[in-house]
Amino acid sequence: MSSALSFPARDSGFVSYITARHFIGGAFVDASSGEALAVANPRYGESMGDVQLGNAADVDRAVAAAKAAFPGWKATPIKERAQILYRLKALMERDLEELAWLLSHEHGKVFAQAEASVKKGIECLEFACSLANGAAAGGILEVSRGVTCQVRHEPLGVVAGIAPFNFPMMVPLWMLPNALAAGNCFVLKPSEQVPFNMQKLAVLLQEAGLPDGVFNIVNGTKPVVEALVDHPDVKAVGFVGSTKVAKLLYERGARLGKRMLCLGGAKNHLLVVPDADLRITADNVIASAYGTAGQRCMAASVLVAIGDVQHVVDAIAERTRALVLGRDMGPVISAAAKARIEAYIDDAEARGATILVDGRGASVDGCPGSWVGPTIIDHASADMPCAREEIFGPVLTVVRVATVDEGLAIENANPYGNAACIYTTTGYIAEYCLERFEAGMCGVNIGVPVPREPFAFGGWNDSKFGHGDITGDDGFHFWTRARKVTSKWALQKDWNWMS
Ligand code: NAD
Repeated sequence: MSSALSFPARDSGFVSYITARHFIGGAFVDASSGEALAVANPRYGESMGDVQLGNAADVDRAVAAAKAAFPGWKATPIKERAQILYRLKALMERDLEELAWLLSHEHGKVFAQAEASVKKGIECLEFACSLANGAAAGGILEVSRGVTCQVRHEPLGVVAGIAPFNFPMMVPLWMLPNALAAGNCFVLKPSEQVPFNMQKLAVLLQEAGLPDGVFNIVNGTKPVVEALVDHPDVKAVGFVGSTKVAKLLYERGARLGKRMLCLGGAKNHLLVVPDADLRITADNVIASAYGTAGQRCMAASVLVAIGDVQHVVDAIAERTRALVLGRDMGPVISAAAKARIEAYIDDAEARGATILVDGRGASVDGCPGSWVGPTIIDHASADMPCAREEIFGPVLTVVRVATVDEGLAIENANPYGNAACIYTTTGYIAEYCLERFEAGMCGVNIGVPVPREPFAFGGWNDSKFGHGDITGDDGFHFWTRARKVTSKWALQKDWNWMS
């Protein structure tokens, strides 16, 4: 285990940590504002450390450091850049337990889910390592006698990434490895609610041999984000967060002619028909709805119960009641999130829905944090807020319809388009839904249909603003520009260049 910034906890007992500072030009530095925010451990509601708050002057410093590092990093062959990422992968595997416990503390996820999310970040690293042998190679073709056309993928320069709170390690690693492998220098703005994993990543990147200035962190909130988007030396911005902010930033950056890819929120529908396999469906819906306490852009949110599937709803309710809070599911991120989630449940009840499993007022002994128990709202109508809006908590809303087409109409009418799933044992029904879902990531009997590397992650409609996806080959292409070179060296008898 690396000693720098070492996090000692190996269980979920409260441990305080450090003040998260900026990382600029290879060193941790203080924010020029002198301001900081307490970062609450969501299990306890108690601050485990502060995060310093940056401003436009700090962004200037970080961008300048990145700009200064760019010529050297760009000139480093991709094979060598990838070697640093290989070393980072080995270091992350060495420190996996520490990273996962740190993540579990700052975010609240139970350890197994924290560990899984770090491993998913490592998978993104593996993909970027492979770029040196794959997509980055570009292509060359003799298009006419003695004439070749070639494409070269070149880095953009200084680029930036902005991350949400729900995946403190994985989401930054959707962006960073591809951007670095491509030869860019990066400025990251982590979520101010979970800044600590990125402090540790900065240390590991340095240990892996990354030159100073290639990776920088500016902590903070809206002023840092806006300064990054507006900065003339930042050539591209990747954003992951809520739809409201994604859309605002996409428009702000596009007005400046920036390359923007902004992933937003979600409201994912799971359709279940009577021939669905009971055990697979019930287990899978539970994992999808309550993993990470429902704070996932891929979480099950609306269960569209088609026809007589009462036995499936009963099995889901039984499994939901059996979940042990604190062991199987962590808290939600903050007291504000708890209040927002519980307000949706109150509202659904007031509108006449049945609260089949009620997570309001849940608590865990010795942990006075932000707890909401797993909840099922049954017999909701499709126009209720709980069925239309992103709740981002452990709440599954059941809407009952008679036909697959009615279910698809509900899914299609929702403005988001991240994920959708059909539970069935009939291939025809699966295909029928797959062709009609208004969602970029679709599952058959899989409620969290996250495309694993090398397939790319990204939704449709109000779940994403910008072209292409954020991981896989698309992710690489987002952080590069293609230079097309047409050359003729051999002297030909005819002097027509097209010959
Ligand atoms: P958020 O939009 O509140 O914050 C995301 C980032 O933007 C943070 O770093 C935050 O500091 C910054 N920010 C917040 N308000 C801002 C503003 N007005 N101007 C500029 N920057 C601002 O999102 P969150 O609560 O951290 O994360 C949860 C949201 O992220 C959910 O909506 C979830 O669906 C979404 N999400 C989407 C994906 C995806 O792949 N589509 C993945 C993870 C999370």
